[in-house]
Amino acid sequence: MHNLKFPHFPIEHHTRENSHIFPAIINSGYIHSVESCGTVDGPGIRFVIFTSGCPLRCLYCSNADCRYLENGKQTSVDELVTEIQKYRSYMKSSGGGVTITGGEPLMQPGFVREIFKRCQELGIHTALDTSGFCDLEAAKSVLEFVDLVLLDIKSFDPDTYTKVTGRSIEPTLALAKYLNVIHKPTWIRFVLVPGLTDDPQNITGLADFVAPFNNVERLEVLPFHKMGEYKWQELGFEYLLRDTQPPSPEQVQAALDIFRSRGIFAI
Ligand code: SF4
Repeated sequence: MHNLKFPHFPIEHHTRENSHIFPAIINSGYIHSVESCGTVDGPGIRFVIFTSGCPLRCLYCSNADCRYLENGKQTSVDELVTEIQKYRSYMKSSGGGVTITGGEPLMQPGFVREIFKRCQELGIHTALDTSGFCDLEAAKSVLEFVDLVLLDIKSFDPDTYTKVTGRSIEPTLALAKYLNVIHKPTWIRFVLVPGLTDDPQNITGLADFVAPFNNVERLEVLPFHKMGEYKWQELGFEYLLRDTQPPSPEQVQAALDIFRSRGIFAI
């Protein structure tokens, strides 16, 4: 068993008692980096903000260098919005917008809420990429300013989920159900890892869970890759998937077939 150190969670200046209203407005937060012309995290060309800090420890994480909040740089909302506005024409003409991913953006709900709020005031489409491991009450107030959620469900079988992430699946399922209740447009993302998440029962379980949801517009099957492995080595972390290979096109197709057999738009 590898030794995992988890940050305290949630970390912002709101409490469970006051978070049912909204998290405190936070005018700055910690980000790892930004990408001005992203094309894989939501529709169109997107300005993507990678926040730092994540409560999960996914075995295949490509961003192991932003596990902790302090791995990032403190940045103000004003600074980010000024930068975002430079790319408005690209975003508008491509049907894109702003995506906040991580790390786990919902570790900083007040900060993320404020960025999204400012974006929507400017008519910019907003997308939140989250694992769903969050304080649901704090997440609710962020979601008021989110047009699209990219919800990463790392596995459906609870034991496999914990093996992959080091955490419980329950908060993610709770968020998924809430998104359906409020009809929030959602894309589900599932990373297919041979020998880990590719058990047909695991995939079928996820398909059966997602199929009744009217808010889910698509499900993306993301083939496992090792592009972040070098970061683990540089950081002195043990990369347990070093002998695991990316799935073959046939394995990806088999997963897609299961989702599509339930009427899900899977790509
Ligand atoms: S949720 Fe994302 S950032 Fe966090 S450990 Fe998993 S892959 Fe890495």
